[in-house]
Amino acid sequence: MKITDIELIPVSTPLKKAFHMPGTEITHIHGVVLKIFTDSGHVGFGDGGDTSTWYRGETQDSIMAIIEQYIAPRFLIGHDPLNIEKIVGQMDTFVRDNNQAKALVDFALHDLKGKVANMPVYQLLGGKTIDGSPQGWVAGAGTPEEMAAEARRALDAGFCLVKIKSGGDADQDVRNVRAIRAEIGDDVRLVLDVNGFWHYDQALHTTRRLDEFNMYCIEQPLPHWDIEGLARLRQRVGTPIFADESAQELHHLKEIIDRRAADGLFIKMQKAGGLVKAQRWLTMARLADLPVMSGCMIGSGLEASPSAHLMIANQWASQFTHENIGPLIINNQMENDQEVIRQDIALQVPIFKDGKLYPNEGPGYGIELNEEFIAANITPGKTIKTVGDSSKRLVLV
Ligand SMILES: [Mg+2]
Repeated sequence: MKITDIELIPVSTPLKKAFHMPGTEITHIHGVVLKIFTDSGHVGFGDGGDTSTWYRGETQDSIMAIIEQYIAPRFLIGHDPLNIEKIVGQMDTFVRDNNQAKALVDFALHDLKGKVANMPVYQLLGGKTIDGSPQGWVAGAGTPEEMAAEARRALDAGFCLVKIKSGGDADQDVRNVRAIRAEIGDDVRLVLDVNGFWHYDQALHTTRRLDEFNMYCIEQPLPHWDIEGLARLRQRVGTPIFADESAQELHHLKEIIDRRAADGLFIKMQKAGGLVKAQRWLTMARLADLPVMSGCMIGSGLEASPSAHLMIANQWASQFTHENIGPLIINNQMENDQEVIRQDIALQVPIFKDGKLYPNEGPGYGIELNEEFIAANITPGKTIKTVGDSSKRLVLV
């Protein structure tokens, strides 16, 4: 089997209600959908999710360019799509960084392979450890009262963890945590994600103020490069410290483990570089006995699927709570078992029910593309890119 051609589609999905993060208003998810075609008639789909220059440093244009100009001509067109490990290895050897672009390729290859094997991707990853993956809810920025009310709704909907984002204003962060704790009680797991926006002095003093609130963890209090600072901080505070932006490649994990710089690790498939690399990553977390949380870039049902399949298959990850709720954030709802999601890149959005995420059962990710939705939401000013020779495809009828 050989890859004949690929398509890169820039899509901007509007949010029903803008999602506010400190200093940022997200009104659209600007992502890239990848289709990989073959001479056997099988087609693989991937969605890289939202692009964020401050989180990943990659954009729609950078992802499309690196795949169109380098990855596809050298490692995809004319090659066997079933050799995923080989392709991932070549991408890592010859293309530095760009993990969101690499993840998009890895996602579509796994979908394709699942379709060839006629089984869901979770079967390729080891089979089911659990049926549904417990999810936390990520509350948007707001007044302390608004955030507390949203946290209450999330718990009532079945979510077992609440995460809020820091605004970089430490006093405001303490007010928000206090209001939410008063609303949801002391036992519910509560996470504050700082996204690296504090400096060491703020992190030390604010975390000490927050210690009384029995939080599950504070995520990435310091900038991504300051692993040594995380290690120092961790020795001086009571609240567990998780590394997100600091923990990307395996050598980052090694440094975090060697320095004992974190109590847990946060993974996104796009940060790790896809499912192959995420499995290596999770093995290192397991070796170091570090709990993991998995998130999303905020995206469609197709974007949520690779992580959803891995989180029920991987025995280490399956023991923890994740926050892979992109389709719910986009559609401003807390489940889609009763209220079906139709405005999505995927025709079959995996089911979120009672705070758990259940990946689809069909071959690959079990998803057909919502071509009508995609056509209506091509990013303004951008065009679809193709590589390869579409006349060599086998089209099944
Ligand atoms: Mg984070």
